[in-house]
This record gives sequence, structure tokens and C-alpha cells, in this order.
Amino acid sequence: MREQLISLAKKLDADLIGFAPATRFAADDPVFRIFPETKTVIGLGFRVLRGIYRGVEEGTTYYQYTTMGVENLEETVMPMALLRLSNLIEENGGTAVPQRRSPLIMEAENETNPEVDYTDVFRGVKEEPQLDFLRCAVQCGLGEESKIHSLLTPEFGPFVRVCFILTDLEFEETPLFSGKLCDGCDECIAACPGHAIKDGGDTDSWRCAVYYNGASGEKNPFMPPEAFADFDLKTKMEIIKGTAEFDSEEAKTILDNIYFYPPAKHFYRTSICGRACDRACYIHLEKKGLLTRSFHRPFRRKEDWKLSLDQFEKGERE
Ligand code: SF4
Ligand code: SF4
Repeated sequence: MREQLISLAKKLDADLIGFAPATRFAADDPVFRIFPETKTVIGLGFRVLRGIYRGVEEGTTYYQYTTMGVENLEETVMPMALLRLSNLIEENGGTAVPQRRSPLIMEAENETNPEVDYTDVFRGVKEEPQLDFLRCAVQCGLGEESKIHSLLTPEFGPFVRVCFILTDLEFEETPLFSGKLCDGCDECIAACPGHAIKDGGDTDSWRCAVYYNGASGEKNPFMPPEAFADFDLKTKMEIIKGTAEFDSEEAKTILDNIYFYPPAKHFYRTSICGRACDRACYIHLEKKGLLTRSFHRPFRRKEDWKLSLDQFEKGERE
């Protein structure tokens, strides 16, 4: 049945599949709070198409990454694969507990998910355990945890999204990924237009939300010169330059003034930073020749672009 699952997963567009025995998880892991009889965690990885990032890389089209690379994968492709694979497990007498990310549910009290509107997020939800997706992916052998706590895979680098099935069936295990991808180069940290990733690698989720949604004037072609009209000029320019200091309450005020571009459906806000951190990492891994999948042309083909900030100082178009 392992081969049947792998074959079906491939047909359902999963690019990576790994099997982690329950022994790889601590007794108090959310895996067992969700399904105490878990014997295997099955991890599925779906590439975020490299070409989907071209629009934000070039500064031309922005909708495609969010609608195809986030929304369509998370809401259509991945749930369909989870359901069909779970059906196969249950047809063979096992129990299958599919686990997709819940974008609006957070256990933390004061964090947010940059991919959705902060007002839609339910925080401090302790009653419903959430899988640690990164840990599960690593335990399933899909890749490694990077310095900034992203999943790096040998084939797709950070351009991948994951979901899981918990089952009470036992399967031959997939070895842990034994290579080394992240070298601590910090190019991901330098690439964030809002300095949302701290030197140690932790991300300030509110700061990330603000710049994911387009607070950088240098990287947001849709921001009008009169943006942030209710802020004094110094604060406005600090926000736009990515140097402003702010707490979560102030982040909410900035976010309320930031949406210059339509969202996707299903709560997903359009990524205006275009996940610059992940793109920088991909470019770095590609240059070092560490990715197993090659292309005719490198991902980055010219100097990274930046827009002038002069129009924001003046508050009118040049
Ligand atoms: S750019 Fe990639 S390889 Fe470099 S530190 Fe960041 S995650 Fe690691
Ligand atoms: S580049 Fe974008 S996704 Fe990455 S940390 Fe910065 S704002 Fe967040």
C-alpha cells in the first residue's frame, strides 16, 4: 500500500511524500493530542511553481503568486490530495486524519499570519491543537529547517507548501534528510524590505504582516504617493522605508491603511513583498548549485529593482 499511496500522491500533484514513524515524535507532541493512535505521519510537499514568483521578481504581476501559489494550493490542490489519499487508507482498514494548515487559527496570543487579514485571525486558541508543520515536515524527511525556520527542500528550496495525514497504519519509514542546505548566509534576512527577520532568525509576525502586505514604498508599485495621509511625514517615511519601530497595536493601524491591491478569495491577502526572503534564499541555493532541479535560466537575471521614494516625500505623483 505504501507504493499505492506514493503513486496516487504523484497523480494528485504532490511532489514530495515522506513517512515518519510515531517514534520520531515526543509523547506530548500535538500529533498525539490530535490522534493518540497515530503510528505514522505522512508528509506531502507541493511545489510553489518557480514561475509564479516571476511577476513579483520583475515587479510586473502580483496576483498570481497569491492566488495560484497560496490560495489554489491550500484550498484546492492540497485538500483534494489529502482526501483522496485518506480515502485510500480507509479503504484498506486504516484510519486517516488529514491535516491542512488552518490559516485563521493561532495558538499564540499576540501573533498574526501575514497571509490573511489580521482581523480574521482567532488568537490564543488552546482547545484545538495545531500540528507543528515545520517539525512534521522535517521528521517526514522532506527537508531541513533553515536558520529562519523555513522548510528547505533539496528539489525546490523554500518554494514548497506541506500538509499531512496521521494514520494508525505502520509504513516503512523515510530516512531523515541528511544533506545541508542552509549555510547561515543571512541573504533572506537582508532581503526583507521591512527588516522583519531578526539576526537570530526569528520573524516578528506583525512586522512581517505589515511588509508582506506592501508597506515598503520601494517595493510596492501600487502604493499611491498620498498613502498614510493620517501619519506625520517622518513616521510615514520611516514606515515606507522599512525602518519604523512599531508594536502590534501600531502594526494594526498601519495594516488598516495599507491595502492598495485586491485580495484573493478565502481570506488570503496578496503578497506584495512576494516573499522576498524565500526568493533570496532560492537564488542563493541555486547559485551554490545545491538544488537538484535545474532550469535553463537562473531565477534572478538582473539587479533587484527599487522604486524611488521621492513621490512619497512630496505626497504627489512625479
Ligand atoms: S538565505 Fe537560505 S541559506 Fe541563507 S541563511 Fe537564509 S535560509 Fe539559510
Ligand atoms: S520578505 Fe516578506 S514574507 Fe519574508 S519576512 Fe519580510 S515581509 Fe515577511
